[in-house]
Amino acid sequence: MTITVFGSINMDVTAYAERIPAPGETLHGTAYKTGLGGKGGNQAVAAARLGARTHMVGRIGGDGFGAEADKLMAGYGVAMDLVLRDTASATGIAMIAVDAKGQNIILVIAGANARVDASDVARARSVLAASKVLLLQLEVPLAASLAAAAITRGAGGTVILDPAPVPPAGVPKETFAAIDILTPNEIEAGMLTGATPKTADDALAAARALRTRGTGTAIVKMGALGAAYASAEGEAFVPAFKVDAIDTVAAGDCFIGGLAVGLARGLPLAQAVRMASATGALATTKRGAAEAAPSLAEVERLLEA
Ligand code: ADP
Repeated sequence: MTITVFGSINMDVTAYAERIPAPGETLHGTAYKTGLGGKGGNQAVAAARLGARTHMVGRIGGDGFGAEADKLMAGYGVAMDLVLRDTASATGIAMIAVDAKGQNIILVIAGANARVDASDVARARSVLAASKVLLLQLEVPLAASLAAAAITRGAGGTVILDPAPVPPAGVPKETFAAIDILTPNEIEAGMLTGATPKTADDALAAARALRTRGTGTAIVKMGALGAAYASAEGEAFVPAFKVDAIDTVAAGDCFIGGLAVGLARGLPLAQAVRMASATGALATTKRGAAEAAPSLAEVERLLEA
């Protein structure tokens, strides 16, 4: 049950300070840390932590961050042989500042992620064709992502697109029919449908509305509320598991990792969404992005509780 992630890899550089500096101001912070990030990298780590054979396809730069990202992802069990070390570019980074109240500002520099193209798809062709599930996001160029989708779908696999971040001009309309499952959060669902869902009923309505665009299944993630799905198999709202959340970074990415593993194991959609919800919930109980991804044993314990 191979899962492939075609997408972004970043290193997150997070600085902590009493407050976020104003433009032109220099402040002394209290600490900093680096960690693996990027929606693609996070989703790949989440799937691998749940025991799936997971391939990453994308690019890192020729810098020290690239070597670090490669080592960290391989350490989590992600197959990294289809990740190109693009020495003409820098590794993607997110520069994050967090204040004492936990508020943050984030600046993302795409670096090597922006250079992903048809050659990356060609390099990964046989793995894409052998993948039960392919995970896509919007942090690498869409044309390459849709070319990857066509290979996996053509061979009978399922393609999940996490439409994040939604570009200012929206998502080209041909995208919806080129994938199987669309997984926006409430903000992205609002950008795609014109109204931000606030309640479980709103989320179901948004999921239904997204299906009319041509995607077979839509899942709308609603943070601590839960997630709604609508598909040919039916629709439902799956309330969130009750956990002590301390950091919601990458909850959505871990949700997708859980969804992919559930579907790759052949679970019906309702059960795969439950597995996704448990994985997302557990991610909020730990700090960080990829390093917050829970193990299979932790997810099974929450599902059986
Ligand atoms: P994103 O990170 O894409 O914005 P969300 O924050 O909506 O995604 O989180 C994805 C999923 O993770 C939710 O649909 C829910 O199932 C789970 N989740 C998120 N936050 C919490 C929380 N505080 N408690 C329990 N589950 C949560």
